[in-house]
Amino acid sequence: MNYRHAYHAGNFADVLKHAVLLALVEALKLKPAPFCVIDTHAGSGCYALDGAEADKTGEYKDGIARLLFPDLHGGDAHAATLPALLRRWLDGILALPGNEHGLKLYPGSPLQAALAMRDSDSAQLCELHPEEAARLRELFRRDTRMHVHERNGYEALKALLPPEEKRGLVLIDPPYEAQEAEYRLIEQALKEALRRWPSGIYAVWYPIKRRSQVQPFLRWLSHCGAKRVLRAELLVHGDDSPLRLNGSGMAIINAPWQLDETLREPLRALARLLTQERPAEWTLDWLVAESAAAPAKPV
Ligand code: SAM
Repeated sequence: MNYRHAYHAGNFADVLKHAVLLALVEALKLKPAPFCVIDTHAGSGCYALDGAEADKTGEYKDGIARLLFPDLHGGDAHAATLPALLRRWLDGILALPGNEHGLKLYPGSPLQAALAMRDSDSAQLCELHPEEAARLRELFRRDTRMHVHERNGYEALKALLPPEEKRGLVLIDPPYEAQEAEYRLIEQALKEALRRWPSGIYAVWYPIKRRSQVQPFLRWLSHCGAKRVLRAELLVHGDDSPLRLNGSGMAIINAPWQLDETLREPLRALARLLTQERPAEWTLDWLVAESAAAPAKPV
């Protein structure tokens, strides 16, 4: 377990992942009944963008920083004109204690969820690395909604599903240190999870290096038995080099009604703002669509 998210916090992949996470939490908040967020790979919860790790890679500069300072990158959109979802997402981050004088801290998925959740909602956070789990526990020591488990997130799903609330979302965001093996673990975990809790929302983040590495997983999703599976992808480089992260995607099983409409303009804006040496590309489509009017797309 060498992966540390502090090197990557706030990069273009986090921007996509966390904007989708906010859209999902907001969709759950449309009903008054409480919900549960289960984060299988939670990380440490909050990252210093002026820390040694973030400084070493500078990845956030081609991620969240481009949304805040588009002019520096020849961007044609000012942050003030961002789609409302992205505006709310950025405002939440900038309102974090510690960011009063500019962007210093980047919240990881558990803190992003905590910022958007209500008092009645709760979260189960799994993190296997002892130091990261200890930081996470410290972060939420006074927040009784947030429950931290230092354990394998795939294993924990068996005990945590279905949640008491019977409403909510599972975020699966592993490090993909061994890509093939990670996909098989995700498929296994999803298969079991869907059996225990067929109506849950499941959001899986995946990296895109070579397109061919992702295709088997997308095909698996198309045939996993779920009724609605939405895919949102953002590519900043060509998807043909195994040597770097070229883009990433979020696959959402049991996607809330109209999530595709909610994400369309934000994705379009992200592609414009996160463009590097060639125009970024985005994809938003149903891998499995419920209605006959919108047939599933073969992948
Ligand atoms: N979800 C976080 C976010 O968006 O801020 C980032 C998570 S990072 C990509 C992956 C994390 O999973 C790392 O902190 C790593 O230590 C942890 N990890 C790796 N294998 C795990 C497992 N089987 N169960 C739980 N955590 C794991």
